[in-house]
Amino acid sequence: MLRANYNWSLSDRIDSYYQRYICGDYCDLRTKVVITPLTCSLGGATGNPWSNKGKKKSPVNIQITELPKLKQARPWYDEIDSTVLQQNLRRLDNAYNNFFQQNRGFPKFKNRSTFRSFTYATGVKIKGNKIYLPKLGWVKFYNSRPIPDGFKIKSVTVRKKSNGYYVSVRIEDKSISTFPIKKLEEITTITGLDMGLGKLVYCSDSSAIDNPKFATNKTTKRLQKIRQRRVSRKKKRSNNRRKAQQRLSRLSHRITVKREAYQWQTAKKIVSKSDAIAIEDLQISNMIKRCKPKYDENTGRFLKNGQSAKRALNRLIADASWYSLTQKIEYMAAKSGKIVLKVNPRHTSQECSVCHHIDPDNREGEKFLCTNCGHVDDANFQAGINIKNKAINHYGLNIVKKVRRDLPKPKQLTLFETPTSELTENKRRKRLRDAPSHGASPINQEKHYPRKSKRDVPGNLKEYTFQLSLFNQENNHPDRDSL
Ligand SMILES: [Zn+2]
Repeated sequence: MLRANYNWSLSDRIDSYYQRYICGDYCDLRTKVVITPLTCSLGGATGNPWSNKGKKKSPVNIQITELPKLKQARPWYDEIDSTVLQQNLRRLDNAYNNFFQQNRGFPKFKNRSTFRSFTYATGVKIKGNKIYLPKLGWVKFYNSRPIPDGFKIKSVTVRKKSNGYYVSVRIEDKSISTFPIKKLEEITTITGLDMGLGKLVYCSDSSAIDNPKFATNKTTKRLQKIRQRRVSRKKKRSNNRRKAQQRLSRLSHRITVKREAYQWQTAKKIVSKSDAIAIEDLQISNMIKRCKPKYDENTGRFLKNGQSAKRALNRLIADASWYSLTQKIEYMAAKSGKIVLKVNPRHTSQECSVCHHIDPDNREGEKFLCTNCGHVDDANFQAGINIKNKAINHYGLNIVKKVRRDLPKPKQLTLFETPTSELTENKRRKRLRDAPSHGASPINQEKHYPRKSKRDVPGNLKEYTFQLSLFNQENNHPDRDSL
């Protein structure tokens, strides 16, 4: 019912746009239907685009004031709560605003699979594990977090996801003051962050946070591929296809839930490090754009443009979802009274943090070697330090430098011992090719370790490493004689 209302209101707004070009008392050139509130909420005998104060009503308010008339014509609207209907129209208005102000796409007509949620403004009550939704009645639900005392329910959204219905409750307590935010002068410590793929975050204090690659690791990629294939092999519009589709979307839901949880933990860890956090101001949508197609001018055929290689990188970037991580960092920072400073990402990976010499040749893959002063470091940590320095200069911070005399100097990586943990698929293949072909190369050996079971937890590596060390000892090598 709500979807019908949404789609009707959208077509109403489109109609009223074209109506500006029509002279006459009809609303559509083709059908010449006379204007009434039921064909178009603008115009007609009762439709009034002006409010009592003489101001022009916003489109959403025009549509909301026409709702009672719509209800008379469609008695089945009575089964919907009135605040839900109004919120439905506001949602359409948001879509329009996004289109005009944020350069997003034009609002779309919704179908079954794209219309999944609705919002209550008032009237919802919660008691234990039951929630009262107006016009739906008391519904049992899993109450994951009780509402603290003194808070009022502001709005409630019910959402359909692949594994059930979810309800999110927005609450407010006006007596609680907002979180105090530190001023720029009060900041004494700062951490620079560089987002990456090998590790998710490289901090300027030379610590890093792992990137678990929830959607792009080998196991998940394979599983996703299988599930997707099962969907596309089923007959269209069949029950079996629907079921296979559900299994696929349950998998992707599981991936998102894991990623969200990990990002919250990461954000908390990062924010606890210092008073302020400096981040690059990245345009990620530009980074994952497709390559431009190339043509052969004589034959008109398409040439290779490198998109197939870039696609894998795009997927890795999308899986890391840096933007949602920065949003979470900002949220956690605001909650604990800290500041997130954004920095122009220009030259952050090419600058030397010691002598500030900028040269694209400074960096080669993971290695960083300054062509001016010979400073050697891991390139990613260099970027973190540069971002921190940029933020200090740009915002004029007075940072207290910590002198740690009792602690040994942090271990500096030499040029040729950069971590090899993040071999890309191509590099790994190349190594395999270059390695001697009798199968004794360490990379080939790795492939033959037996997996204990399908449900083997990757975190539990105790037994696994024990096996590894056994296997590497020359004496116990089973194939030693045959080799
Ligand atoms: Zn240098």
